Amino acid sequence: MARYTGSVCKLCRREGEKLFLKGSRCHGAKCSFEKRSYAPGQHGNSRRAKLSEYGIQLREKQKVKRIYGVLESQFRNYYEKATQQKGVTGENLLRLLESRLDNVVYRLGFAPSRNAARQLILHRHFLVNGRMVNVPSFLVRPGDVISVRERSRKMTVVHEAMRRIKDDAVMPWLRVDKAKLEGEFMEQPARQDIPVQVQENLIVELYSK
Ligand code: SF4
Repeated sequence: MARYTGSVCKLCRREGEKLFLKGSRCHGAKCSFEKRSYAPGQHGNSRRAKLSEYGIQLREKQKVKRIYGVLESQFRNYYEKATQQKGVTGENLLRLLESRLDNVVYRLGFAPSRNAARQLILHRHFLVNGRMVNVPSFLVRPGDVISVRERSRKMTVVHEAMRRIKDDAVMPWLRVDKAKLEGEFMEQPARQDIPVQVQENLIVELYSK
């Protein structure tokens, strides 16, 4: 499975905003973006160039890919799938990304970031409806129950992440039972309930060219 292995903080600097890719570090003084908000590279410190319409659309797509940790070909597949669904394509795209198991594990508070969730899933620490799933891109459906495997219930990383997440920070389309270390994906999220500040219509415009 191909994935980005470089510095994730550089991705925030490239996009010119915090993408919250590193868990608790993103909320503290150690966040690289707080120290160096300019773009990475030799000329990163000079003023950001004014973007063309295409450039703005491209940056928006890159931002979403980076937030969810998805590479181009997979992202394009999600887009194709979104166009075949009823409703607004951009919103369908975000709903598909939100349904990925790594995202759901992160949103439930079982992992401090999507990256960490991906690692935990690959190491077989999660069950979906009682069956082990080790595929981070697995699409969770309404009614699916995600739980931490019995043998993984003492893992510090899971308990630390659970301790940090506030009850009111759990998304309205999810239900979490902290004592049982399990959660339910109750329904597909409405756009206004997805806390990702992007203009998904720009991605649709980009791919429609
Ligand atoms: Fe981005 Fe988090 Fe790194 Fe800050 S610490 S630059 S928010 S990934």
